[in-house]
Amino acid sequence: MSEVRIRPVGIGTRLTLRCGCVLLDDAGTTVLVDPGHFSGHRAALDAALRATAGIGLDDIDIVFFTHLHFDHYDDLGYGPRTTVAVSARELEFFARFIAARDDGEGVEAFLAREYEHLAPVFRRQFVRLAHDRRYDFANASFAGRLRTVVPGEALTPNLRVIDLEGHAPGQIGLDCLTAHGRTAIAGDALLSLDDALAADVAHHLVYWRHDLLLAARESLAGHDCVVPGHGPWFEPRSARLIETTEGLLHG
Ligand SMILES: [Zn+2]
Repeated sequence: MSEVRIRPVGIGTRLTLRCGCVLLDDAGTTVLVDPGHFSGHRAALDAALRATAGIGLDDIDIVFFTHLHFDHYDDLGYGPRTTVAVSARELEFFARFIAARDDGEGVEAFLAREYEHLAPVFRRQFVRLAHDRRYDFANASFAGRLRTVVPGEALTPNLRVIDLEGHAPGQIGLDCLTAHGRTAIAGDALLSLDDALAADVAHHLVYWRHDLLLAARESLAGHDCVVPGHGPWFEPRSARLIETTEGLLHG
């Protein structure tokens, strides 16, 4: 595996529910991960990319979503050259979610049956978002450029899709070599360094399957660098935060 360049576009924070957003560059192919950080503000993301890397949102080759929770995923009107990569398994889950909305079971009953733990603040958002345009994938800005991916496949030659199912159904991440060593983009399998140091996940607001979430967290323990869902990057073995010296840091 050759080294992939990684830069923060937005550092995740807990209080504002902002997720971490990173820009990866694999030999000239640019991959933007979880731009939900910018919560609908396309111009702010475009400005952050220009400040970080001198490119605009329309120059991005691949937008990759670790999972489709509303704080990570948004349709920001991606340009004609941009492919949008989403977990095949999670997309199937959303098809069932929308079917439950339309065919009688109802969104609330579906969520209660599917999620092992869903705090009221998240449940209310999920119910509301069942009717949000961003989950109408057939009419998304990227409808013709949607790429479904599965764990084990190469997103680009040096970026491997990994299975992090548990927090969300079908959740995925990315595994690569960077200047920080073996690096994982963890989505919400790990929320932060504090979360990684916690013995259990009782403080989590949402998880789909408890046992799978614990297994996903375990699988990240050997990496040199973890980009968590909602906090600064860290080194799991030493429990040290990693200083990110480039990019536009905010939060
Ligand atoms: Zn999430």
